[in-house]
Amino acid sequence: MKIEIRDLNQTYPNGNQALKNVNLDIDNGMFGLLGPNGAGKSTLMKILVTLMKPTSGIVLVNGMDIQKHRKELRGMLGYLPQDFRFFAALKTWEFLDYTGSLAGLKNRKERMKEVDRLLDQVGLLEARDRQANRLSGGMKRRLGIAQALIGNPKIIIVDEPTTGLDPDERIKFRNVLSQLSQQDVIIILSTHIVGDISSTCQSMALLNRGDLVYNGSPENLVKHAEGHVFKLNLTPAEYEIAKEKFNVISTIPVDSGWEVQIVSDEAPEYSFTSIIPNIEHAYVYFMEHKLQTSLID
Ligand code: ADP
Repeated sequence: MKIEIRDLNQTYPNGNQALKNVNLDIDNGMFGLLGPNGAGKSTLMKILVTLMKPTSGIVLVNGMDIQKHRKELRGMLGYLPQDFRFFAALKTWEFLDYTGSLAGLKNRKERMKEVDRLLDQVGLLEARDRQANRLSGGMKRRLGIAQALIGNPKIIIVDEPTTGLDPDERIKFRNVLSQLSQQDVIIILSTHIVGDISSTCQSMALLNRGDLVYNGSPENLVKHAEGHVFKLNLTPAEYEIAKEKFNVISTIPVDSGWEVQIVSDEAPEYSFTSIIPNIEHAYVYFMEHKLQTSLID
């Protein structure tokens, strides 16, 4: 599978420029779309699922213009929207059975087989007879993935998947997605949570106010922050000054005051230890220090 996004612009009637000349290629595997609120992620997702027509530009899926081939595209698409809801009164399996029939699985026996296969895939087989609205938040999200997977979609789009999930469920959810990404499918994960991206995504893009400001691997994003993350031990008075001057990532109380991690273009004037950056450091470094120049690698 291949998605090619060319010169994509979206300007809303009130003049908001949600996407500014975005160019992006997405190949098989898990793709992370990261950006703060208002960056343009949902707008891009809506265009990709053909719920919205862009002001200008084109999106090709395996060479096919999605605006001209909406029906074919929708047939290969699975979508888990941010505000995924379902009918309260249904059991877990009944909900999937229902979405399966909506998706065109007419044969009841085959549909039931598919329902159980998907429940197993997302780790909900044991909960198949539980009422869907009694499932935990994380289980509901996994049920959301199961409904997005009905009909074997080739492109799976997941919007803000882990909001409100505890760490354990977050990991389970990510594992379900990364198992899927072994196949000939594209999974697009749209999120403002940096931690959702890291290990699971082979490739990612960073959007900011409609601009694509980074496209590459998470590892390469992290490389940009090398030599720009420092650990300092500061007295309370020094801390008051430093927090105005630097991007403070974390603050831990210690006997003498604060142990502080900062992201900075230049080494600070206090004594410091350099830290190996993680993706969170890299995100802050990129958003706060590198945004003058767009970078594609
Ligand atoms: P994200 O999903 O990254 O939070 P959005 O795509 O929702 O970003 O929004 C991008 C920009 O477009 C924001 O400035 C937002 O206010 C604006 N926007 C989104 N939807 C509309 C709309 N229907 N009308 C006008 N402006 C909109």
